[in-house]
Parts: sequence; C-alpha cells; structure tokens
Amino acid sequence: MTGPHPLPSPIERVEVPAFFSPSRFGALGRCKLSVLGERSASMLLPPTVHALVGTIVHHVRRELSEGHWGAELNREGACAILLAEATQQAELQLSGTASTAALVPLREAMGSRNWELRELRLRRWVARLALQGKSKPARPLRDLLGVPTGQGPDSTRLETGDEAWLVAPSMRLRGKADRIEQTAPGTLDIVDFKSGRLHDEEGQLLPDATLQVRLYALAAEEAGSVSVRLFLEGDARYPVPWGDTEREETRALLKAISEDLPAGKALGAKSLAEPGPHCRGCRLRPSCGRYLQWGPTVWPHPQPTGQEPPLDVWGSLERVVPGSRGDTVELRNADGHLVIVDGVSPSRGLGGLAAGEPVYFFDLERTEDKRAHGRVVHPRNFHEHPPDGGKRLRRARSLQVFLG
Ligand code: SF4
Repeated sequence: MTGPHPLPSPIERVEVPAFFSPSRFGALGRCKLSVLGERSASMLLPPTVHALVGTIVHHVRRELSEGHWGAELNREGACAILLAEATQQAELQLSGTASTAALVPLREAMGSRNWELRELRLRRWVARLALQGKSKPARPLRDLLGVPTGQGPDSTRLETGDEAWLVAPSMRLRGKADRIEQTAPGTLDIVDFKSGRLHDEEGQLLPDATLQVRLYALAAEEAGSVSVRLFLEGDARYPVPWGDTEREETRALLKAISEDLPAGKALGAKSLAEPGPHCRGCRLRPSCGRYLQWGPTVWPHPQPTGQEPPLDVWGSLERVVPGSRGDTVELRNADGHLVIVDGVSPSRGLGGLAAGEPVYFFDLERTEDKRAHGRVVHPRNFHEHPPDGGKRLRRARSLQVFLG
C-alpha cells in the first residue's frame, strides 16, 4: 500500500501562445490560467466523466460522418457497434491509470439515465442524416488523458469537410471546426457538434458554444469566405445568429483578450487565475495557488445553487478510523471546522498518516445536502464510498487525494 502523492508544486508562470483556440475561448474569458496553464502543470486532475463521454460520442459521430463503417450495415447498427467499440477502448485507457480506474464502467460512473440520454441523442442524430458506410476501418479513439498539444498550421487556412482547420494568424485564431460545408460558391456552413445539452435554463443556446462558432466565422471571413452561416448540432441543427452586431461584439472580445495576452509573453500564474464556481471543471485545481487560497474563504458562506465551489476540502488530519465500509477521515479544515470524509478506500493509505499532516481531497461527493432559500452550503460531511451503499448517494469515482 502506498500513501497519497504530494500535492503538485503550484504553477508559477506560463507563456502565452501565438494562437487562441475558439473551443476554449469561453473558459479563457472566465479564467485565463485554466486554459493557458494546462501544459505548465506537473499534474492535472482527470477529465470529468461528462467530458470523457462527450469525447466518445464525438468520435462516433466523426466515424459515422466520414464513412468509417461497413457499407453492409445500416447506420443504426453501425452507430451501436462504433459506440460499443469506442466505450471499450475508453475503458481500457481509463482502467490502466490509477487515478481514472474507478471511472470504469463509464455507464455506471455517468449514471444510467444520463448515459441513455446521450445514447438517445446520438441515435436521433443518426436517424436524421443520410449517412453512408464506406467500409473504411474504424479509427482508434484518441488519448483521453493527454494534454492537448495546441499545435497546428501557422498560416491562413480554410478547409471544408469534417474536422476542418480554420486558421487566421492576423486574428490569432486557430481551430478545427467539426464540419464546414460549401453550400453555394462563397458561402460556408460551419457546424459544431455537441453531445450534451445545447441550451441553458432560459432556453438560449449555450454562450460558450455560440462564441466558439462565432470565432470560427471571424476566422473564415478573414481567410476569404464571403458569406458564413453558423450552426450548433445536437440531436437537431440550430442556427446561430451571425450579423454585423455579433461580428462587432466578437471582434471586440477577441481584441480585448489579445491585448491582455501578448503572444510569447511569460506571465505570472497568479495574475491570470480568477477563482470562482467555474473552478469546478478545472483540472488545474491542485496546482493553482489562487484556488487553494480562495476555497476556504467561500466554504463558510452559502452560495446560490449552481454557483457552489468544487466539492474539494483540505486541512490538517485529526484521525483516521477504520471501518467496515472504509476509513473515516477527520480533518480540521482550512477554515477551522471539523470535516468528516467517510468511506475512504483503505488502499489510499491514509491510515498510516500521523495527526497534523495536511491532506487535500479533490472531487468528493457530498453526504449532507443542505439547501435553503436557493442557496447551498459547502458540506462538512463528504464521502468516497456512499454510506447508503449507493441507493441515493453516488460514489466519488474521480476522487484524488494528496499530502501537503
Ligand atoms: S482552479 Fe480556478 S482559478 Fe485556478 S486555474 Fe482553474 S479555473 Fe482558474
């Protein structure tokens, strides 16, 4: 049994890249470090299960669109086979790494209902299109745990087809659109696929996805396209407005970020980090000094639903009590309160630690659920394995533990 790894050293500086990726631009607007710091971190938290399943669905759509399936199959059958194969490949990758092994099987980690919803959306998409198998062999799923390289062509480029490059060096934009179709001479339809939901609670298209395709439009116009139409595609295709107002707004946003982030400049990580509820999806949390300072300042205050800080906690170890359902860990957290983390797998090696050791937990599940008047309290009772055996509470499958 080995004990937890030490907390990674904090990111100190990052170098600003020459290009921005439209697909990460929304996140860049909330916290610059979350995008620019990924390649500087010595360790990243695993991707969320929703992100992993999104990558699998994306892969299946690409294989179906490009005819990488047996021409003798019908498209529904091909979809089912490709999804099963991609899931198997994903689970093989995840089970080979200690930090992600508990995410297998993915269907359980995601929850059957959510999994079936993704499957249903994929099947609806398949049923709507005239897809053609070309008997080309299915390609392997990409590395799910690697850090995106941020590499690509440096000169102006405007491709059509699937996974089409759009590069506009004068605007510092470079990305791959899921699909670019030439609908008439000089007119392009730019389509981005989304495997999850496409609309927010108010029924509006998600702002990050909308901004992404608008940045593609700017790049396409800069690269020579006369006319552009934009779409987001889930189980149906939704047009994204693109006219003078949207163009001006998108240009202004891009200009502001470009001025803040000059290409090639080395900037201090602390000046780029902007902690907030968006830290929940960020893989840099253990290496982000600003987040580690910010967390304990917001834990004591009830937050609006959906705005809560991540389900992380850290502090000084008080004691570890072994039990039939795993270890119960008592911590004096960083804002001075006693916190219980229940059902911790003994294989994590916390039982051998001395009182007073600083211990960090990332991606726990809440055992208590305190909500009042639309606000949520950061819990003082967490778990890895649920005390109810999984009847109502979920296992913390992405949990990572470090020593300070
Ligand atoms: S943890 Fe939060 S503050 Fe730190 S890089 Fe991620 S999003 Fe930014």
